[in-house]
Amino acid sequence: MRIHTKIVAVLVFLTCLPGISQAAINVFACEPEWAALARALSDGEIKIYSATTSTQDPHHIQARPSLIAKARRADLLICTGAELEAGWLPLLLRKAGNAKIQPGQPGYFMAADYVDMLEVPTTLDRSLGDIHASGNPHIHLEPNNIARIANALTQRLIELDENNSVRYQKNKKQFIKRWQQAMADLSERAASLRGQKIVMHHNSWPYLNHWLGMSAVATLEPIPGVPPASSHLARLKNRLSHDDVAMIIHAAYINERSAQWLSAKTGIPVVSLPASVDFHQGETLVQFYGALIDALMAAGE
Ligand SMILES: [Zn+2]
Repeated sequence: MRIHTKIVAVLVFLTCLPGISQAAINVFACEPEWAALARALSDGEIKIYSATTSTQDPHHIQARPSLIAKARRADLLICTGAELEAGWLPLLLRKAGNAKIQPGQPGYFMAADYVDMLEVPTTLDRSLGDIHASGNPHIHLEPNNIARIANALTQRLIELDENNSVRYQKNKKQFIKRWQQAMADLSERAASLRGQKIVMHHNSWPYLNHWLGMSAVATLEPIPGVPPASSHLARLKNRLSHDDVAMIIHAAYINERSAQWLSAKTGIPVVSLPASVDFHQGETLVQFYGALIDALMAAGE
């Protein structure tokens, strides 16, 4: 009996220690980059679920029952926004019926609300394909965006979990310091990419181009979201040559048949880039950016 009382006392003591508190927040991230950012800012103190992996196309996933169940238990939803998830998130939110993560609630965080969007259309013509009214949604490929979103997300975590505010602030400071150092190193390593012309499969890369000083001269998709047709590829074959264009880039989750066809005809190398962080393997955003630069630099050698 006495031993039992002691164990209870020890357990009570342990749960009262600041470092061993229960996970205060359940996070549901739409994409692995936001799951990784939440992990960096929370230092393992919160539970994080990523709805997609780096090998999935975040434009198109199914709002399947296992996702709905996770969303039902979430305190904080972290997504890109800007219509990236327009095909599945509204349905997921409706089916989950979780009041905490509905639009306008503190538990609803859209990363695109905190950055300057590129390619905001002046007129909206849906016949031009998957054109997003709020601009290009592939915002996680620009270091400044990540830093801004880290600041905003820290504020939100504190709003939801005030008891841990000192920890969130400390983690954010450390993250930003490491991030800025790592990104300065990477831009230096990638200096030779400046001014290079590229072809993209899908228009996923304008933020990366903006950061690295590359420019896109064509996309394999004739209009966003529409697969490459042979007539469009044939036109590109006649227009492009290896002298002008350094590489054809695509996200690793995309079928590279069209890119390989054009490469065989023109000699322009194909570069497959990771679309995001391998969250389940514990990859960090810094490592993901490093892998992007590694792949781009290898193509230029
Ligand atoms: Zn897109």
